[in-house]
Amino acid sequence: MDYKSEMQTLREQLNEAGYRYYVLDDPTMEDYEYDRLLRRLEELEAAHPEEITPDSPTQRVGGAALESFTQVEHPVPLESLQDVFSPEEVEEFAQRMDEALETVEYSVEPKVDGLSVALEYRDGVFVQGATRGDGRVGEDVTENLRTIKSIPMTLPDKLPRLIVRGEVFMPKNVFHKLNRQREDNGEALFANPRNAAAGSLRQLDPKICAKRLLDIRVFNLQLAEGRTFATHGETLDYIASQGFQTIPHKVLENAEDVNAEIVRLGESREELPFDMDGAVVKVNSLSERTAVGSTAKCPRWAIAYKYPPEQKPSKVLDIVVQVGRTGVLTPKVVVEPVRLAGTTVTNATLHNQDFIDEKDIRIGDTVVLQKAGEIIPEVVEVLKDLRPEGTVPYHLPDICPVCGAPVERDEDGAALRCTGAECPAQLHRNLTHFASRDAMDIDGMGPAVMRQLIDTGLVKTPADLYFLSTEQLENLERMGKKSAQNAVKAIAASKERGLERLLYALGIRQVGQKAGKILAAQFGSFDALAQASEEELTAIDDVGGITAAYIREWMDSPQSQHLIGRLKEAGVSMEAAQQSAGEQFRGMTFVLTGALERFTRDEAAALIEARGGKASGSVSKKTTYVVAGENAGSKLRKANELGIPVLTEDEFADMLAEQQEEK
Ligand code: AMP
Repeated sequence: MDYKSEMQTLREQLNEAGYRYYVLDDPTMEDYEYDRLLRRLEELEAAHPEEITPDSPTQRVGGAALESFTQVEHPVPLESLQDVFSPEEVEEFAQRMDEALETVEYSVEPKVDGLSVALEYRDGVFVQGATRGDGRVGEDVTENLRTIKSIPMTLPDKLPRLIVRGEVFMPKNVFHKLNRQREDNGEALFANPRNAAAGSLRQLDPKICAKRLLDIRVFNLQLAEGRTFATHGETLDYIASQGFQTIPHKVLENAEDVNAEIVRLGESREELPFDMDGAVVKVNSLSERTAVGSTAKCPRWAIAYKYPPEQKPSKVLDIVVQVGRTGVLTPKVVVEPVRLAGTTVTNATLHNQDFIDEKDIRIGDTVVLQKAGEIIPEVVEVLKDLRPEGTVPYHLPDICPVCGAPVERDEDGAALRCTGAECPAQLHRNLTHFASRDAMDIDGMGPAVMRQLIDTGLVKTPADLYFLSTEQLENLERMGKKSAQNAVKAIAASKERGLERLLYALGIRQVGQKAGKILAAQFGSFDALAQASEEELTAIDDVGGITAAYIREWMDSPQSQHLIGRLKEAGVSMEAAQQSAGEQFRGMTFVLTGALERFTRDEAAALIEARGGKASGSVSKKTTYVVAGENAGSKLRKANELGIPVLTEDEFADMLAEQQEEK
């Protein structure tokens, strides 16, 4: 076979296998075989780049990162839906349709909680995909959509123009896995799959989006030049025949059946791979749709039924108290396991004593739990009728349940705090905080590793980290030789972070990043700070009396002194970082927008300031650069309008690196 035919055959085999896997959910090819064929195709494409076609499976993560998204006008607007909240409102809708139309059939579908996109094909080739935006103008996210394996790059029918609309989502299992990883890495968690999908689809670098494994369900045919259809059902069948994953739907004839289907869908939500935020009811006949038309924003021929947040009762088995890094006591109810909106709930936070008092939650009570939109279960109310005899109001303990030290109420609020300086409950949080990005920035030492280090007794204070050997780390779970070596390197590298970060890392009460910076600038070295009196500290701008007292208290405690001694022994820098780095960005103003992957915003701002630049919150003509991360929105748009240069996170990181080299 010549190479051209071989490439053609490989593309067909791989696309067919991908379709079976991602669209039909019926894999026919072993992963190994798929990878082998893909590698062969990659080799041939490397040798004959002129033969790469847009439908090649290698082209899903193609182009380089974008500077920003361009705007796209939708030829057919992406409308909203009118919400309804009860079976009665569904009946009223059906009545309105009955009065206006001859014979009405309805399509009932799950409402996928994701992001609406339009996909456009010309002569059977995917040419553009855009977000909904305001329904008329969206953003071109073609490169990111290419990474979604269930979106076909070419279609069997070569219609001059075809536009479909669907909902992009992050599958629930992918979401949970991603959040677990982020937790391990000490990164901020996504609140729900929708946010995660939105953040991913708005990545300027398609390689990041590709890793997020998004999926889609197509639910509407917007436009099909050269084809006509009578019903919505027919259009969905046609779309499916072209290789798309379409929305599951049922065609029904009256309000009663529609309501029954809504209930059934609600009960089946757990089995669906996506989060469902309602059910959509649509008139099935396309000519009848035209007959009733649309209001300014929504079609009159459809409604979205919103399910009430699921609530379930469960019995309070216990109230337990956890102690956080800063020593705050947080009460939680332990309840009899109950299935709620897709997960088994065994506990819920009670926040603080005031919350418990207000709802009068007692051990033995039956409480109503719900997960409203978010993933965190909460107590809605106590079913007082079911309260057994002999229960007593609950009071948080006055000694720390972990170390036995007395607890104190915070001056300013409801929080109770453990006063024990060496409370082991605080160790895990202390260590994780110490190693976190904004603090000592020790790569690869996330919460999971810290937990093991504590459990195996290897680490009792942050200073112990600096005495770990590769051999000790290697024996931990999920820690090969290579990662142990990297961890040791990362720990060693963190010795040079400088005083401002060290002060923040130590977790002294009220000493955040800003105070760390101010104190480091003022005193220059740890020893100078350690000798400062409360009065001297209070005299510094931005350091209040309370903070000064906490700092003094910390400095005077024998545990702190021991810790500092050990850190010094390990060679951790106790001096303020050189300020002279600060010329590179002199006179420049940066605006950070969207979520950055490698830095927190605060960190990026600190890096800019350390180089003499300014980090500002809003874009104006005076802005020098806008750094756009995930989810960049109006600020990015404004920058484009004003013609301000936009940097990707990578470009920004490169600029910072230049500075490092010059030093
Ligand atoms: P809303 O934004 O609350 O007005 O709801 C309308 C949105 O629901 C649309 O923009 C779609 O993105 C989304 N949606 C999800 N699933 C469906 C579906 N099966 N049919 C129509 N719209 C859907």
